[in-house]
Amino acid sequence: MTNTTKYVSFKNNIFIIGFGSIGEGVLPLILRHINVAPEQITIITADERGHGKANDYKVAFINHALTRENYHDVLGSRLSKGDFVVNVSVDVSCTTLIELCQEKGALYIDTVVEPWAGYYTDPTLTATQRSNYGLRETALALQPKYKNGSTAVLCHGANPGLVNHFVKQALLNVAKDTGANVAKPASREDWGKLAQQLGIKVVHIAERDTQVSDKPKEVDEFVNTWSIDGFCSEGLQPAELGWGTHEKALPPDGLRHASGSDAAIYLNRPGCTTRVRSWTPLEGPYHGFLITHNESISIADYLTLREDGKVSYRPTCHYAYHPCDAAVLSLHEMNGKNGKQQSRQRLMNEEIISGIDELGVLLMGNDKGVYWFGSRLSIDQARGLAPNNNATSLQVTVAVLSGMIWAIENPNRGLVEPEYMDFERVMEIAEPYLGDVVGVWGKWSPLQDRGVLFPEDLDASDPWQFKNIRVV
Ligand code: NAD
Repeated sequence: MTNTTKYVSFKNNIFIIGFGSIGEGVLPLILRHINVAPEQITIITADERGHGKANDYKVAFINHALTRENYHDVLGSRLSKGDFVVNVSVDVSCTTLIELCQEKGALYIDTVVEPWAGYYTDPTLTATQRSNYGLRETALALQPKYKNGSTAVLCHGANPGLVNHFVKQALLNVAKDTGANVAKPASREDWGKLAQQLGIKVVHIAERDTQVSDKPKEVDEFVNTWSIDGFCSEGLQPAELGWGTHEKALPPDGLRHASGSDAAIYLNRPGCTTRVRSWTPLEGPYHGFLITHNESISIADYLTLREDGKVSYRPTCHYAYHPCDAAVLSLHEMNGKNGKQQSRQRLMNEEIISGIDELGVLLMGNDKGVYWFGSRLSIDQARGLAPNNNATSLQVTVAVLSGMIWAIENPNRGLVEPEYMDFERVMEIAEPYLGDVVGVWGKWSPLQDRGVLFPEDLDASDPWQFKNIRVV
């Protein structure tokens, strides 16, 4: 039976910026779980996609792309104190919209720190500026200015977002399963101490999407289960990873940033051409792409411990993404043209015939083995749970919903990263939409079965070195 719990009431207006796969998917969840009328909701987007669906739900639809020049007129003139901006667009600067919301006293949520269009390919910008590390620093720099301002939830999709909360649940589960005698952490430092005590050296966001359509990818076409523009943008940013204290040496192409938290490094190459070894329970071992993501940096930063001002513990943390098979072929074709996207895009939704999105966090370093905790959501489960969604989008849209509810319940927190939210409240709302939420132990290591065929660059003395994980 469908869960129709109304978690909160909302009396003001909601503006959904962008109405692609995530916007279309989150709208029915908002109407189902927040006590709000369709007349309170306005979509502002840059094309006609979803106009018919907006009409079906009786919500206003404005096709007017936001730009640096017009956002004050188009959005600001409609926005009042207590409203909510749900930013699920591409090419719209998050920090600009956050500042607008702070000026107006409006709530805000996004799923990624997105800059204005053209930013990622601007040759005048440094790699740090184009990195998620740099973008995160620009958002965090606003925190002191808007302390106790209206709540702006940063980066609360599936990943970043849900997976940041999965890490906490996974740490508690590892502690329980290994008989570690620990109290539930009450502070950032406590979580870092728990991760350290459990011997966690590496955290992967380990995702395998097996959704397929009955229509094969064509030549000169990019096919994916979520935003193709969003995926290509992040894929072409430098590969980035939170950099752990157990790592013996920087990768040959690894670089540190000159300022900021120093929690992460970047590689002098894009993530869509950088592969890593990882493992999920259903897929087993696989090669994923080291696509940069905000959570690679924020999780590593959150779990960092310092003694006398010096970093004493931090796990390595990064994404290991195996997108749907059609997207792997699409990336291969795009990489051959040095990042020039194909002339056609196909975002798969109704045409998907089978598959799951297996999305979780993989904790490595504990003596008992590796521990994966996450969501296994099939396309059939997703369709049964909510309209307008595939398995990938539902993991994101339910995170947006739960982040919105948390913000309405906690309206004066200023800018907040997922790690600083109540993870149990978020999980309570999201879990009914995540299919099978499971924790599984495994014996995998990146050295497993390498034999004579894959001998490259091994450090047998510590399996959890990045050089063992990276595919060269
Ligand atoms: P999509 O490509 O399907 O849709 C993007 C939408 O943005 C479109 O409706 C487009 O018209 C709109 N848009 C583009 N330029 C705009 C502008 N200037 N003003 C207003 N609207 C504009 O993308 P999607 O799959 O719906 O993803 C939306 C966002 O969510 C992307 O930034 C993506 O990276 C992010 N995302 C995050 C996660 C996560 O887990 N954190 C997962 C999926 C997507």
